[in-house]
Amino acid sequence: MQGAVAADAGPLAAAQALSRGQEAQREARYEEALRLLLAALERSRADGDRVIEAAALRAIGFVYDDLGDYAAALEHHLLALALDEARGDDRARAMTLRTIGIVYSKAGDAAQGLEFYRRSLELARRVGDAESAAKTLNNIGINCKNLGRLDEAQSALQEALALFAQLGQEAGQAGALTNLGLVHARRGEVELAEDCHRRALPLARAARYLMGEINALRDLGALLTRSGRLDEALPVLTEALAVAERMGLRPERAECHRALAGLHKRAGRHAEALGHFETYHELERAVFNEESDRQLKRLQVRYRVAELERASLEDGLTGLPNRRQFDARLQADFERAAPLALALVDIDDFKQINDRFLHVVGDEVLRVAARLLRRELRDGDLAARFGGEEFALLLAGPPAQARSVGERIRAAVAEFEWARLHPDLRVTVSVGLAYLEEAGSPLDLLRLADARLYRAKGAGKNRVCAD
Ligand code: GH3
Ligand code: MG
Ligand code: MG
Repeated sequence: MQGAVAADAGPLAAAQALSRGQEAQREARYEEALRLLLAALERSRADGDRVIEAAALRAIGFVYDDLGDYAAALEHHLLALALDEARGDDRARAMTLRTIGIVYSKAGDAAQGLEFYRRSLELARRVGDAESAAKTLNNIGINCKNLGRLDEAQSALQEALALFAQLGQEAGQAGALTNLGLVHARRGEVELAEDCHRRALPLARAARYLMGEINALRDLGALLTRSGRLDEALPVLTEALAVAERMGLRPERAECHRALAGLHKRAGRHAEALGHFETYHELERAVFNEESDRQLKRLQVRYRVAELERASLEDGLTGLPNRRQFDARLQADFERAAPLALALVDIDDFKQINDRFLHVVGDEVLRVAARLLRRELRDGDLAARFGGEEFALLLAGPPAQARSVGERIRAAVAEFEWARLHPDLRVTVSVGLAYLEEAGSPLDLLRLADARLYRAKGAGKNRVCAD
């Protein structure tokens, strides 16, 4: 099972797997994307390539984001952020912080989104990344507007606008102006709002930013309608509808028909109003059906993607983290350099257990052993299935503590009532322990623990060897 993911990666290099995974994500082929990105992640970790590792985590975050699983998206973006921080890459950090802010905002937590935007902005300014700062300011403006903090929204959007103008980015300017127009409209500042929408329009057109064009036209039309300037509103909304039709955008078409219905009704043209209302409702129904279909498909894919990732990190028999996850944690813990011990726990004479009893009994012994391990561990420790009948533990804290956990585990296995599985069954384990301060690398640490496990076996098994 864990082999399936790795095998699909074949000889692909990390960078290649990453870019193909990103492409698949953009094209909404999510399961394929995840397979490739997990392969990129694994390879990049093996290569020690932190840049690709962070990019792969971000891309996996986007897969979950697209599928509407914001918790999983956040989890991956936060892991990417930790890597950006470890590398001291402030540009990447600013981008990741903004991405996290967007996920929080989409999940409906505008305040938390703002918090991340502020951190992103501070960094972007510090490294002089004007484009990143402008995008973040625009996001800050949207959140502040949604929270009703209109003064803050206005100043952020004005600043975003000025930066986009300096950068010569027309689409960015159009977006910021549209948002600014909405802020003014909220305050009842009709002239200022109108000015913003009218300025947004040519910029969106110049940038061929069709959604921006539709937004500017529709918001302007709505504003004119509300102000009773119905003759001016009509051609504007008609044009918005034409653009939406040209693009075949059903939800936008629906919105335009609704706005036109409202306009005709206000003008007392009831037949026209009714016609637009009917079209609006038809489109809405189609959009709704399409949306529920999509939603259902998205949920199915989301489930399969989560399974896929879980399977790539978890051992199927015991439910413990697998070797892949263990290696990643070991690497990370090693770099943090906090007090740490590694224990290798190997079941004694397991081959005989399989031979004397049945393979299914052997499997059950592994499951029970995994449960006992989990039970003896403290918060912050990790137990993984390392291979066959061997487990690896990462134990936080100084050597004396690790030794007593090792001893507790040995005793817990030896004293378990194995007769419940089979009257003649006895199971013991041997443990090899090594400490971070003795080792120069993760591999070193593993070798030391393995050598001590071997000594524990040689000394008669059912014991802990720590030196
Ligand atoms: P020692 O005391 O020296 O550790 O001897 P041992 O018999 O435990 O070690 P050995 O490495 O010779 O045998 C391990 C056995 O574990 C061989 C393999 O068939 C069995 N095994 C590995 N994975 C599984 C599994 O998932 N289920 C079962 N039932 N057996 C497994
Ligand atoms: Mg063994
Ligand atoms: Mg073994």
